[in-house]
Amino acid sequence: MRSTNYYINTAKEAPSDAELISHQLMLRCGMFKRLTSGIYTWMPLGLRILRKIENIVRQEMNAVGALEMLMPTVQPAEIWQESGRWEFYGKELLRMQDRHGREFCLGPTHEEVVTDALGKDLKSYKQLPKCVYQIQTKFRDEVRPRFGVMRTREFIMKDAYSFHSDFDSLLATYNAMYQAYCNIFNRLGLKFRPVAADTGSIGGTGSHEFQVLAESGEDVVVYSDTSEYAANLELAVCLPSRDARPLAQQTMRKVATPTQKTCAEVCALLGLDLKNSVKSLVLLASDGISPVLLLLRGTDTLNEVKAGKLSQLKQPLEFASLSVIQESFNCNPGFIGPVGYTGLVIADCEVALLADFVCGANQDGYHLTGVNFAIDTTEPLVMDIRNVQTGDRSPDGNGTLKLCRGIEVGHVFQLRSKYSTAMNATFLDQQGKAQPLEMGCYGIGITRILGACIEQNHDERGIVFPLNMAPFELIITPANYHKSALVKEQADKLYKYFLAEGIDVLLDDRNERVGSLLADSELLGIPYRIVLGEKSLNQGQVELYHRKSQENKLVELESMAQQLSSTIKNERS
Ligand code: ATP
Ligand code: MG
Repeated sequence: MRSTNYYINTAKEAPSDAELISHQLMLRCGMFKRLTSGIYTWMPLGLRILRKIENIVRQEMNAVGALEMLMPTVQPAEIWQESGRWEFYGKELLRMQDRHGREFCLGPTHEEVVTDALGKDLKSYKQLPKCVYQIQTKFRDEVRPRFGVMRTREFIMKDAYSFHSDFDSLLATYNAMYQAYCNIFNRLGLKFRPVAADTGSIGGTGSHEFQVLAESGEDVVVYSDTSEYAANLELAVCLPSRDARPLAQQTMRKVATPTQKTCAEVCALLGLDLKNSVKSLVLLASDGISPVLLLLRGTDTLNEVKAGKLSQLKQPLEFASLSVIQESFNCNPGFIGPVGYTGLVIADCEVALLADFVCGANQDGYHLTGVNFAIDTTEPLVMDIRNVQTGDRSPDGNGTLKLCRGIEVGHVFQLRSKYSTAMNATFLDQQGKAQPLEMGCYGIGITRILGACIEQNHDERGIVFPLNMAPFELIITPANYHKSALVKEQADKLYKYFLAEGIDVLLDDRNERVGSLLADSELLGIPYRIVLGEKSLNQGQVELYHRKSQENKLVELESMAQQLSSTIKNERS
């Protein structure tokens, strides 16, 4: 490709509202353009990279025997009503009506469509297992689209679905997919980690996310410092810090805390350990009667995904309003506690292990110290509702936990028969008995991968693309292409050579200052660059630059081309 025939439109600055470095760099490179909130146009340069990502994904999907197909973006309400998700999916599902008043949605995912399409065909165990995939545009009406390609409303996903006669067969495909995902992210040159994950609105039994490790990630990954244990914070189970509750030593006492509302303020005033303080959160109950009091240690935070699974709580979770709190506790937030509360109390498992703790007195301006369950207040219902923290024991009993941030680029699920049962997709087993199909589903965010890759691979000059994802593998930058006949002749010759070798090469023949051509090549992150100047050409030499190592050397023109061509071919994977 010649730059003059291509579309290169770089900018020195990114708009000030682009927070993430990847978003800024992608805008500066002109990879994509915002049309409206969370909706982007992919420019030729950006699409070129997406196609490279897709090709690797396609190769690895084909290698595990998944078959490519294509499902529609617009989906009728009926199949969503059949699966039960028309109501459940909530506002992320963009709904609309056609001219006849029939209801449709824009597909955020395709379990319903694929179950409708294949579930009706796969009638016998002899046809199983089957696995299909597509690379297609999804729409999710995200509350807060942000971070460029990371969280958009319209995005490209690879989604695969598998159908099986039994769980063992599902597990075999799940494991093959897991491995294929590792291959994909390795080939794309990403530093990633597979972690156990929550199944969210997709549902099912087991699931793993593939997290690209980056400071800017929205997810928190929890891992053990000694074992293989790794999970999304949303899911990470707590292993209680001690085996049993110590014996009560103190008697309960009411103390004045006139302006102290948080556990930290109360403990600072009374000289108590924050770990032995209890904070109270008031949430609406599923039965709609008295609100539920949730108890956490002052040092802990509520895990809303864990709480989101409690049948006692109204779902989706809703914190009680000020008036409900005042009516139920006779005090203001900041002074609430379990003592004397007759409604349901759920304590986190760490709270249940405390003795002589401090908590609100249900009276404005007062707290209670030396509080003990079973003595001062009834035993609560005990649940794991907190977020784990650095230094906690690993749930597998090996080592302690560490936390880091990640960007979720892929997610695999064992759906089991959630959709096949709901949508009546059955097959006849060996005994001729009708059974619901076992299913798995496997997603990769193609567009998000590009953002995640840039988060991991950039420096002060721009992007540092891994070879397999780079828009071009090699750029030829001639100094004075339009003035020097020698430079033009040699640049054209090299360009033709690399094209013939099958190298993805860009000849930067724009009539611009060489300084700005060089800056662009670094901004775009092209892995290899050859610079041709009249002076060095007269000595039979060119400059060869490697973007990643920043190594820049003068090399013999004669031998360079062949060597570089094989270096690039060897580096491809
Ligand atoms: P998240 O928790 O980030 O919202 P999710 O759990 O909703 O993701 P899945 O339903 O598992 O995502 O979708 C599969 C993949 O699609 C994700 O791993 C992610 O890479 C990508 N993806 C999901 N939502 C978006 C989005 N709004 N913008 C870009 N990519 C997305
Ligand atoms: Mg989501």
